[in-house]
Amino acid sequence: MKGSLNINLNEIITEAPLRENAFELSDSEKISKIEYHFSEIMETLGLDLEDDSLKGTPKRVAKMFVKEIFSGLNPKNKPDISLFENKYGYKKMLVEKDITLYSNCEHHFVPIIGKVHVAYIPGTQVIGLSKINRLVQYYAKRPQVQERLTMQIAEALKEVLQHDDVAVVIEADHLCVASRGIKDTNSQAVTAVYSGQFEKDSVKPEFLSYIHR
Ligand SMILES: [Zn+2]
Repeated sequence: MKGSLNINLNEIITEAPLRENAFELSDSEKISKIEYHFSEIMETLGLDLEDDSLKGTPKRVAKMFVKEIFSGLNPKNKPDISLFENKYGYKKMLVEKDITLYSNCEHHFVPIIGKVHVAYIPGTQVIGLSKINRLVQYYAKRPQVQERLTMQIAEALKEVLQHDDVAVVIEADHLCVASRGIKDTNSQAVTAVYSGQFEKDSVKPEFLSYIHR
């Protein structure tokens, strides 16, 4: 009973809060709509959209939102993760640390910048290393909260690997904390998911020793 409750809870927490009709509009329709609304925001702020430097901004922002920094909202952009047979029979943990993270906070739409550390214990198959980076980038390219991002990366890895022996740690600066509001430029948020063997006291410290080396 407890197990099934956990699974349901995970689904609720880890999914991006999208509407059902999120992909009714094509990318180009979204770009022209956002371009219009962003020019309205600039106009409202009193900016002169006839100015040489500003006139292309609404279109640039719209394209950047849809094609780049929020492209991970669209499942069609999810990377294909190919697995390779674990021919060498490597059975210890594999750690990929310091993966560069650029995301955006969904509360303020300003950057979250940090590092992602990922580990798994290979079974009969291994993941191509660059595929882990691609998976991180995919989930990062959404308006995010760090907790959800951490869980999404862990869940996606479990799904690909077909087992639970994964760990994900994210250390990140939130510009909404650093550059506005409380203006704390030194604080960092750390989130972590340890699952399967990584929950064990014999395994987790080894992982943490690698990422803090
Ligand atoms: Zn924020």
